[in-house]
Amino acid sequence: MMVVKVGGADGNDIDNVLIDLAPRKEYVLVHGGSKEVDTLAEALGRPPKFLTSPSGVVSRYTDAQTMEVFTMALAGKLNTQIVARLQSMGANALGLSGADGGLLVGRRKEAVKAVDNGRTMLVRDDQSGTIEQVNADLLIVLLNNGYTPVICPPGVTEAGELFNTDADRVAAKIAIALKADTLLLFTNVPGLLREPSDPSTLIKRVPRTQLEYFMNFAYGRMKKKLIAAKDALDGGVSKVIIASSNAADPVERAVSGLGTVIE
Ligand code: ADP
Repeated sequence: MMVVKVGGADGNDIDNVLIDLAPRKEYVLVHGGSKEVDTLAEALGRPPKFLTSPSGVVSRYTDAQTMEVFTMALAGKLNTQIVARLQSMGANALGLSGADGGLLVGRRKEAVKAVDNGRTMLVRDDQSGTIEQVNADLLIVLLNNGYTPVICPPGVTEAGELFNTDADRVAAKIAIALKADTLLLFTNVPGLLREPSDPSTLIKRVPRTQLEYFMNFAYGRMKKKLIAAKDALDGGVSKVIIASSNAADPVERAVSGLGTVIE
């Protein structure tokens, strides 16, 4: 079993990954969609805002209005498009947000710490949260009946509130719940780079015992991928590979170890 996550930031070639995935079985696809959310937010006159945590992790500031945009862009548009595209290539894809079948249940963070101009403040209206339970049984029922689940945030609370949660970490939680052996994280760079602006500085192997050290190379959202990788390995997944969505046959390449292999 394999869990595949495709990035949604600018510079990702999602279709490339879908073409390679379509003939395969025994996988679950997770996607983000940051660019899609930004584009829709701009179009609706609600420009995107971001928060930087004290440890330097950047995340979307999801107030109630942004939460609506987030759901429209991810679960509404992008998820449906991905499902339609996989269907057109013969895969029996089925789209799910975290609310469907109670797939991704968790809790909202009451307040998040954010740094602004060197000052740390508490933001209370951010609708982001943490997944605590994955309905793996639902995914197994679907997989056993020939469906390919295509999953995206938001997550949902027991009280039915939707919340934003990082798609890389969602993918890690799903990989753990399904006891997957491999988690593939496709993104717009060849993997973890020593020098983020130089694609030739790929770090090819990260032994799990040195993950903490290699965190130092990651900035912004790449940090989240390494946190997701750590979650996955701690939860029993054998291998996490961060790889480019842009090369031809990206799944084949990643599975053969082209990218950053963390194990
Ligand atoms: P996606 O939507 O594909 O998941 P993200 O924007 O979340 O993409 O994360 C990938 C980005 O992380 C890269 O485009 C790059 O700007 C940034 N990044 C920060 N540090 C590094 C690093 N050390 N190596 C590679 N990318 C990095």
